[in-house]
Amino acid sequence: MQTPTTIDLANEPVVQQALEDAWADSLPGDPGRRHEEGGWVYRDTTTAAFTVRRAPAGGRATLDLNTPPVVVGAVVVATFHTHPNPSAEGWEPGPSAGDTRSA
Ligand SMILES: [Zn+2]
Repeated sequence: MQTPTTIDLANEPVVQQALEDAWADSLPGDPGRRHEEGGWVYRDTTTAAFTVRRAPAGGRATLDLNTPPVVVGAVVVATFHTHPNPSAEGWEPGPSAGDTRSA
C-alpha cells in the first residue's frame, strides 16, 4: 500500500466531509465559543479505504492529536485540525511551527 499524498487525501470524499464537519463544529462564526477541532485519517492496510476519527474538541487555539485511537487493521496516514480564529483579530491562520513539525 502506498502512502497517500496530500492530493490523494484532498480528493477523498470521506476526508473532505471530515474537514467540513470539523470546520462547522469549530464554530468559526461565534467569537465566544470558536475552538479547534480535528482528528486523524486512517487507511485500512488491506482494502486501502480511508476512515476518519475525530478528536475531542480542543481549546481556543489548541488541540491534542497525540493519542489517536487504535483502529484495528488500519494505520494513521494524516492528522487534520482547524484554525477558526480570524486573521482580522490578529490570529495567524496558517500552520504553526508545531503543525508543520507534526505533519
Ligand atoms: Zn494548528
